[in-house]
Amino acid sequence: MKEYHKNDFDGNLVYGGKTYHGLTGRIDVITDVNESDEFEKHNISDKDLETLKQCPMCNGEEINEFIRKKRLKVYRCNSCDFGFLNPRVKKESSFKLYDQSSRYESLYLNETSNKLDKIKFQYVFQLVKRFISPQSVLDIGSSSGIFLNTCAEEGVQIIHGIEADTSQIKRSPFYQKNFHIETSMDLDLSKKYNNLELVTMFDVLEHIIDFKKTLTEIHLSLAKQGIFAIIVPNFYSLASRIIRDKSPTFNIEHTNYFSMKNLIPLLETLGFEIVHKETVISEISNIKNYLEFNDPYFAEPKNEQWTNFLTPEWIHENLLGSRLFVIARKKQKD
Ligand SMILES: [Zn+2]
Repeated sequence: MKEYHKNDFDGNLVYGGKTYHGLTGRIDVITDVNESDEFEKHNISDKDLETLKQCPMCNGEEINEFIRKKRLKVYRCNSCDFGFLNPRVKKESSFKLYDQSSRYESLYLNETSNKLDKIKFQYVFQLVKRFISPQSVLDIGSSSGIFLNTCAEEGVQIIHGIEADTSQIKRSPFYQKNFHIETSMDLDLSKKYNNLELVTMFDVLEHIIDFKKTLTEIHLSLAKQGIFAIIVPNFYSLASRIIRDKSPTFNIEHTNYFSMKNLIPLLETLGFEIVHKETVISEISNIKNYLEFNDPYFAEPKNEQWTNFLTPEWIHENLLGSRLFVIARKKQKD
């Protein structure tokens, strides 16, 4: 199988930002996130909201408003740098965020998105294989099933997925008959799974209020030396640092905003050993557009010469990419 580089699935680099956002329908998604009142759209009232007085990562009490976008407020903890929506939608009301047909639906069936996702997941699998040749996998939030499909192509025998959006499971061509797919987002995983060799979670943990419990359940359901691979938005990406409230990463569905500074110690505390960490997705066109006084997403950068120092390599060397990608191994207890 072809060896891939992370730049091969970086839409800004493969197509140029403007073309990429057009081809994938992201222009509509970004406009929607940035222009609409997300509370109104999802019919969220005060009784659906809770205000936090402490950091949900470290329980620190020194928390401050950090980013504001219309009525949406993201707070940051001074001790651990964790970011969180505050107020946030309570767990029991969170179904309201997902009950209408998802704003991302157009992305699931999009040819360009699927093409890049296939490469992304082959890249992920290629890295996972450095540590394990898994015979079983569970992908939490399996979306259009592309990662599970990749696993099947790579010879993984036992394939489990969890995806609450049943329309995706029906419509996506990537699900195969022999996949075991659960449609309830009940994440008491250890009741149902054990001895899994690989558990994955791509762009999911930022949505989950009790993220520590979910990670604990993942740890319990893994085999000894089992591998957990996670991709999650990077709160401190260069794009977010520059574009701030205009970045679509700040939205009502994202209740948690992680950085390597807090994700790594969290995983270690829960009994994982980190075997690989990096950032992926440079957002380089978006950054350059903004620095050239243009709309970050809907323009094509002129690549003014002074911006030449901004390369994908420089961005990722400094862990400033748009996503954190971490591979962790369940530590052997003796
Ligand atoms: Zn904290």
